[in-house]
Amino acid sequence: MRLPKTRAEAIARGLIRYFTGKPCPHGHVAERWASTSRCVECDRKYCEANREKIREAKRKYYEANLEKIRERQRKYDEANLEKIREAKRKYYEANREKIREASRKFREANPEKTGERHRKYYEANREKIREHQRKYRQGGLVEKAKRKRA
Ligand SMILES: [Zn+2]
Repeated sequence: MRLPKTRAEAIARGLIRYFTGKPCPHGHVAERWASTSRCVECDRKYCEANREKIREAKRKYYEANLEKIRERQRKYDEANLEKIREAKRKYYEANREKIREASRKFREANPEKTGERHRKYYEANREKIREHQRKYRQGGLVEKAKRKRA
């Protein structure tokens, strides 16, 4: 696909980039972002030079807006519950072997890490896990009782 020559055309066509063929103020003959009209190459260089600063800014933004971000995420998840579940299922199905292989390899390469992670997870969620197991057992017993009665 050929990129448009002007920003207006890019916006009109719903494209995120355009290419003027002229050098930017820093001499890059590169594509430009339709949203900011900034040179892609300049942005890339800026990102590389300011990686720490950008990361810090993101972290600060995240911290300052934690509640808002969580709320947005929660609402999105709620609204897209089925879609997300379906996507996860499809992804898993399509990549079942790959996922299994990757986790097997990871476990093999990091036996102590995996154990450690499980232990930590267990410690952090001890009550939840116990409760879950208790409910599961109860459910199992109830099922058994039902079957016996039937
Ligand atoms: Zn540039």
